[in-house]
Amino acid sequence: MTGPLPILVVGGGIGGLAVALTLARVGIRVDVFERAPEFSIVGAGIQLGPNAVRVLADLGVAASLASRASSPTALAVYDGAGGLCLTRMPLGASIAARCGEPYWTVHRADLHQALLTAAERNPAISIRMNAAPTTIDTSARDSIGITFADGAIAAGAALIGADGIWSRARDVVAPDFVPAHSGYCAYRTVLPIERAGDLDTTVVGAWLSPRAHVVHYPVLAGCALNVVVIVREPWSGDQWNTPAQATTIMRAVAPFAPGLRDALGLAREWHTWSLPQPILLERWHRGRIALVGDAAHAMLPFFAQGAAMALEDATALAVALVAFPDDLVSAFEHYHASRFRRVARVQSASIRNGRIFHLSGPLAMARNAVLQVTPAAILATQFDWLYAYGRAETEAL
Ligand SMILES: Cc1cc2nc3c(=O)[nH]c(=O)nc-3n(C[C@H](O)[C@H](O)[C@H](O)COP(=O)(O)OP(=O)(O)OC[C@H]3O[C@@H](n4cnc5c(N)ncnc54)[C@H](O)[C@@H]3O)c2cc1C
Repeated sequence: MTGPLPILVVGGGIGGLAVALTLARVGIRVDVFERAPEFSIVGAGIQLGPNAVRVLADLGVAASLASRASSPTALAVYDGAGGLCLTRMPLGASIAARCGEPYWTVHRADLHQALLTAAERNPAISIRMNAAPTTIDTSARDSIGITFADGAIAAGAALIGADGIWSRARDVVAPDFVPAHSGYCAYRTVLPIERAGDLDTTVVGAWLSPRAHVVHYPVLAGCALNVVVIVREPWSGDQWNTPAQATTIMRAVAPFAPGLRDALGLAREWHTWSLPQPILLERWHRGRIALVGDAAHAMLPFFAQGAAMALEDATALAVALVAFPDDLVSAFEHYHASRFRRVARVQSASIRNGRIFHLSGPLAMARNAVLQVTPAAILATQFDWLYAYGRAETEAL
């Protein structure tokens, strides 16, 4: 489909590996270039709604991930200060029956490893580590070139930028765009399940309060509880794994109910990262380059859809390249057109969730009242547009 040249993928994270697998599946050779010298266990939990699990199932990766995944029974929303459970929206069997796939929570390292194992086994995919482009050469008519710090070069029919929030490939597609920090930080820990105290370890728990919110859910096949505390804070490092002091976190959760505070007080170590301002580029491609995942549309984690959107992008890209095998520009236009409105809707929903989570005073009381009086099953169906998505798209491959 792309002739003798492979497609070059810059970035071997969730989006990059998913792109490699979807493209290999439709007969395209892919060379992946990852900046890190090796993949290590960095990061913590990631939620995978049925829309994300559907992509993994189609790639044959869900089966190998299943034993490491948890299926929370509900999304339990708590009033942060009082600890009152405001609603329990059913997940578990209920969402799987409605949306066609389960709702999973996993450790990012498990998800990444499952994608990596599948990619390494695929003869159409090569992965090069320690390989960040120093230049991207767009001057040739029929190909694109990358140069690396050691002088090596690579040529491809196209380049897919899957290099995350601080994307280098994006500099070519949207040279005027400057990423920024959002003013939120995420503190996270992974608690052994026996240290979770009174927390309900079978649910995705979301504790709301005006200055911070806390989300927890099971990971590592239910052996541990991933906890994330999101606070407004100007710190702006760009690493995923900066160690944080427990005293900082305990100060941030001081307004929360004792049951939550007690469990968080048992955590042995905390890490932090600074959340970027949401990104939604108008343009996702230029010439022979297209962007996927966070490079094009990084999100605040208030709707838990960052990884899911990268996975969906991968499917959409493969669909577009199959539809326009000899016309890269039309393929990339089709890809962008098929994704933009959905990603924009998810992006807005995520920003809106952030506002709702952090309401204070009478507005917070009104929010709590609505959550308490609305039947949980009705609340849950409001997200079917999000989670049932993807059946038609993946069937097209
Ligand atoms: C180490 C790490 C830990 C994370 N932990 C969490 C977490 O705990 N919870 C959560 O919700 N999200 C986490 N994320 C973010 C989450 O994975 C993404 O938001 C989501 O999966 C979208 O995926 P993506 O492929 O667009 O970006 P990412 O998954 O961020 O992948 C980008 C990849 O590109 C590589 N890269 C960056 N620049 C270059 C370059 N110039 N050349 C070559 N390669 C490059 C990066 O090393 C990375 O492997 C983490 C991301 C990373 C990289």
